[in-house]
Amino acid sequence: MVALEEYPRIAAGKIRQLYAVDDEHLLMVASDRISAYDHVLSTPIPDKGRVLTAMSVFWFELLRDEIGTHLVSADDPRIPNEVRGRALLVRRLSMLPVECVARGYLTGSGLLEYRRTGTVCEVSLPDGLTEASRLPEPIFTPATKAELGDHDENVSFEAVAHTVGRQRAEQLREKTLRLYRRAAEHAESRGVVLADTKFEFGISAEGALVLGDEVLTPDSSRYWPADDHEVGRAQSSFDKQYVRDWLTSPASGWDRSSDLPPPELPGDVVDATRARYIEAYTRITGRDLADWPTPTT
Ligand code: ATP
Ligand code: MG
Repeated sequence: MVALEEYPRIAAGKIRQLYAVDDEHLLMVASDRISAYDHVLSTPIPDKGRVLTAMSVFWFELLRDEIGTHLVSADDPRIPNEVRGRALLVRRLSMLPVECVARGYLTGSGLLEYRRTGTVCEVSLPDGLTEASRLPEPIFTPATKAELGDHDENVSFEAVAHTVGRQRAEQLREKTLRLYRRAAEHAESRGVVLADTKFEFGISAEGALVLGDEVLTPDSSRYWPADDHEVGRAQSSFDKQYVRDWLTSPASGWDRSSDLPPPELPGDVVDATRARYIEAYTRITGRDLADWPTPTT
């Protein structure tokens, strides 16, 4: 039986941690932490790590005929019991330093840039688009990874070509858009809009382009309930809306513009948010979370 502490930790993000299993394998562990308004909240959402891990696996399986993925197993003796269900054993890759974002709808940093310049990452868009508009076709809007705590920075295709070479950049754009279309089509068939998403790719020991990181989770994507989509206003996010609404309501007593961290979440907000994550999982995958491994001690 392996214990997590036996593996050297090689990276710690806000929500996930990465451990070295051996020269070829890593363990990607998702926590139950949640972020909102650029803060990691002090209150965890039980089962969030499991939901995101299970969802990632669903998508890795669905996208497997499009591209090789780093997923080795979600249920392997090398996964310590304490993180079972929220950890993936993956192939170690040499990651490309590009956040490969595809957008099918306009919102967030894309909308801000469009309002200023009429473009997103130097891709020209027609006039008259607004919050939550569907784009004529999905676009590749890469970003570079910011230092911990900073926002990722949108960059042009040319900047990506400069960083990884033109051929590789073209391959990243082509794959990103293809994977996005495939996933958006599936989500749509389940009543969910996949507004945008971010992929990370790496190069395997054999030199192949491989899909890495987490994929198509609510942390790396914007999912909107399709029956509630309305252009011109902010869409309710599938997963974090309760948290955001509560944090900005008088009940929380928190001032978003202050430097103070947000307060702890009350139990009913935690419960509602947890239920929302599970609903997103069930709706998108058609699977039951009860069938997914749980940590044991
Ligand atoms: P943030 O909290 O802003 O996301 P982060 O991206 O540094 O910060 P994580 O996303 O938790 O933190 O960390 C995952 C890290 O693991 C990323 O740097 C990602 O590129 C890397 N990674 C993902 N898959 C692999 C892989 N198969 N091999 C090597 N590194 C990987
Ligand atoms: Mg990350």
